[in-house]
Amino acid sequence: MSTPQPRAHVERIPAYVPGRPPTTRPGTTTYKLSSNENPYPPLPGVVEAAHRAVDTMNRYPDMGSTLLYAGLSDRLGVPVEDLAAGTGSVALIYQLLTAYCDPGDEVVHAWRSFEAYPIAITSAGAVSVRVPVDADGRHDLDAMAAAVTDRTRVVMVCTPNNPTGPSVTQSELDAFLARVPSHVLVVVDEAYLEFVRMDDAVDGLATYRGRPNVVLFRTFSKAYGLAGFRVGYAVAPAPVAAALRAVSLPFGVSTVAQVAAVASLDAEQALLERVDALVVERDRVVEGLRQVGWRVPSPQGNFVWFDLGARTAAFAAAAEEAGIVVRPFAGEGCRVSIGEDEANTRLVDVAARFGPDGDVAPL
Ligand SMILES: *Cc1c(COP(=O)(O)O)cnc(C)c1O
Repeated sequence: MSTPQPRAHVERIPAYVPGRPPTTRPGTTTYKLSSNENPYPPLPGVVEAAHRAVDTMNRYPDMGSTLLYAGLSDRLGVPVEDLAAGTGSVALIYQLLTAYCDPGDEVVHAWRSFEAYPIAITSAGAVSVRVPVDADGRHDLDAMAAAVTDRTRVVMVCTPNNPTGPSVTQSELDAFLARVPSHVLVVVDEAYLEFVRMDDAVDGLATYRGRPNVVLFRTFSKAYGLAGFRVGYAVAPAPVAAALRAVSLPFGVSTVAQVAAVASLDAEQALLERVDALVVERDRVVEGLRQVGWRVPSPQGNFVWFDLGARTAAFAAAAEEAGIVVRPFAGEGCRVSIGEDEANTRLVDVAARFGPDGDVAPL
């Protein structure tokens, strides 16, 4: 007797490496800077809304996410038909690939970029075409446009790019879109949109409005601090949004997630002030690192990238010793989230002691 075998591509799906939780060490606070989470506790109004939702846990959620769509439509000035909610924007990536890719179709994306891309692409039976980021961790949009073939169905543009940090500019995106045929979907993954502070920043809504093949992915997990509740959304031309909704898991976005997301939209002002504070911290960290000689790519999200190569594991260990858990990518570098002020200060200290060029000073 033999066990039934999954489809052949299932074996090729890379494993997702989640950010490790902090280990508890007596006498010191350990900070988790490994998952780009929002370090602030939830706002009181959001917590209360979530608590009220608990009273209806015997009921299925509103499958049409009516209040959430109404809130987003109002907030963004887009028709409800152009929206699709999902259990995090990671789920929307899967939905998009399910809806648009046949086995063997190609999906072009930068690398290194969000680690969920190759996992979702391989799960869909599609082929992940990885275009290296440049030495500054930026998308090489020329090379990405050149990588589009007859088999390409989707291009992912991750801006700001996780884990390296930089964003593309609107001019770069426009030039890129002009080169990509309109039957290829271009996903602009804006998970860290709220943290962007730069000239010529991408205006996702203006970009999608003019084009039949541009999709924006956004999430409540990062700036809005709802990572644990799993809710994200796409803004897309109506037929694309309809396809995303058609392949979604029925009742995926829970009632508690829906009401917390709506309450977060209502509390947006307070949430965006917190984002401002995180941006100030991000700039303080970058400044501190540059002062001691680190050359970090200009971060536009809530995280900083250390290009460490063979020193990656040693850096992660030194950070751990200092009570901060970072996200190492073996042999490449470490991504470190901007967290509590004390955590950020420790990061700068540990990086200063570790040194940008190979001398590991004693801790
Ligand atoms: C965190 C993240 C997401 C969103 O994750 P969800 O929690 O599933 O909404 C999407 N894209 C990138 C690049 C991310 O870093």
